[in-house]
Amino acid sequence: MIPSDALALDYDSFLVDLDGVVYVGPEAVPGAADTLAAIGASGRRITFVTNNASRAPDDVAAHLTDLGIPAGAGDVLTSAQAGAAMLAREIPTGCQVLAVGGPGVAAALTAEGFSVIDAVTQPMTDRGDDVAAVLQGFGQEVGWRALARAAFAVGRGVPWVATNTDLTIPVSGGIAPGNGTLVAAVSTATGRVPEVAGKPFPPLLLKAAEVSGGLRPLVVGDRLDTDIEGAANAKIASLLVLSGVTRCLDLWRAPMTQRPDTVALDLRGLLDPPRHIHREDGAVRCGLATATIRGNLLDVTEGEDPVGAVWAAAHAVWDAAAEPDNAIEAAARLDRSISETLDPDTDR
Ligand SMILES: [Mg+2]
Repeated sequence: MIPSDALALDYDSFLVDLDGVVYVGPEAVPGAADTLAAIGASGRRITFVTNNASRAPDDVAAHLTDLGIPAGAGDVLTSAQAGAAMLAREIPTGCQVLAVGGPGVAAALTAEGFSVIDAVTQPMTDRGDDVAAVLQGFGQEVGWRALARAAFAVGRGVPWVATNTDLTIPVSGGIAPGNGTLVAAVSTATGRVPEVAGKPFPPLLLKAAEVSGGLRPLVVGDRLDTDIEGAANAKIASLLVLSGVTRCLDLWRAPMTQRPDTVALDLRGLLDPPRHIHREDGAVRCGLATATIRGNLLDVTEGEDPVGAVWAAAHAVWDAAAEPDNAIEAAARLDRSISETLDPDTDR
């Protein structure tokens, strides 16, 4: 059941990012399964939206189901699917398209009715590839030969869509080149810039909103520079959850284009009442939390609500349009409170 005063009731569909929102590493975020089940049971549509083009929707759905979040391929939209849909508006279906990326890229093109040449697995003929377009997404097997084939076609001027331009991917060994870095190689070689499907560009989120069929969608994400900026670019409301990569200071330093409409600890915040900001006597209040800037110093009272404190302080800092001298210490203190609250062993 959704409580009668829940934030979720303000929206009829939810475009939910995966990593940092639904799961962190191999584990589901605490409460994510129950929250999504309650929202789904109310008839509201949930679409899982991912910039990761390498996995096909049924693989993503199977992963979610394993985590206790029952999902089918139709509940997932990848940037490869959004990119293939962009090409379907530019060139006739049935055309040959060069797929540069993991299996998810070729699968998305096939689903749109294109004839696919897989740059990674299929050998090139002596005469090169006769393709009408290129779709480039991440794949661990993408090497120089595949990038060269992409460059040949892109250099001829055919439509070129990148699934996403995330520059890096965190892996167990460290920070690795992401699709944006590989796209940049083709871009540097050809002097062209691709159209982009994934966040922060609008096509993926707009397609997800269309598939959801709702009139009042909410983007739920953990990254300011993809999820939240993408929502703003697509003119969709956004909720930032603090269960992923964004720390307090990131939020306080966010440019206007990356400021969410609201904030929550994690997905469970969808079932809590909406947070409201009040300004009085130079202080910014959110529930029992208060943030005030005196001189150049930020004074935050948590009022047993660290998320409210983060949100009040964000508005105080944004109102001041200058970073307080003690912002780094104040943010570190709030980050500690947030991670204690996120700890699954802590009662909430
Ligand atoms: Mg994420």
